[in-house]
Amino acid sequence: MLNFFDLANNGLPLPITKDILILYKQVSKQYLNKNLLESIRMLVPVKIRNQFDRAIGGNVDLNTPMPLLLNWFKHDFMKWMDKNPVCPSCNLSMNLRYVKGNSWIIRGVEYYECPQCSSNLEFPRYGEIENIAFNRIGRCSEWSFLFGAILSSLSIQSRIVHDFLDHCWNEVLIEGKWIHVDSTLEYPISINNPYYYEKSWNKKYQYVLAFLGTEITDVTKNYSFNWETILKQRKKRKNSNMFRIIDYYEKI
Ligand SMILES: [Zn+2]
Repeated sequence: MLNFFDLANNGLPLPITKDILILYKQVSKQYLNKNLLESIRMLVPVKIRNQFDRAIGGNVDLNTPMPLLLNWFKHDFMKWMDKNPVCPSCNLSMNLRYVKGNSWIIRGVEYYECPQCSSNLEFPRYGEIENIAFNRIGRCSEWSFLFGAILSSLSIQSRIVHDFLDHCWNEVLIEGKWIHVDSTLEYPISINNPYYYEKSWNKKYQYVLAFLGTEITDVTKNYSFNWETILKQRKKRKNSNMFRIIDYYEKI
């Protein structure tokens, strides 16, 4: 029997879509681009870079430079893009018009306009690290895409994690173990607090997936106290097959 659901979404279980998989694959591929990483590394203050070099050399623990990097990134480098920006002159909520982009390179543009004075604001949602680093503003996706590139530029292996609800973050490989890192959160909550979202934001996960250039991993279990329940719910749903997702990710 013809399955329209399959036709619309390549057989992937919602909320996982082809566009999201392509985006994460393309973003994490950039973590292998040496020229890009060289210029990204130069954005990091030299003191912090040196600490990372010492940690890589085995002279200091990674727990020393990580907080410095997280604090610098959150408080000195990046800005948070408000979901409801207010006009600085009129103090009124600005109206949003969203124009969808046609590829991962530019996912879309948010245009904001003040209903009173017509002053306006543009927020392009880039997938290219270079543009995110130039703009230095975003929400969790821009923050995690760039933070992953910064980690790579400091020779720390990282991957992006997405919860298929409304948040994404990073994981870093420390002594062979993937550790949760979220540059949007305040240190020390930002490191190794995988249950934070479920506990504090009352998240109800279906899928939490980690993305590398060539690999997609189901990490839901690491972020939830309710793994058994999630598994049962997945079984009830159609197409909830991780193999299908992994297979698709490899092919795109
Ligand atoms: Zn105004």
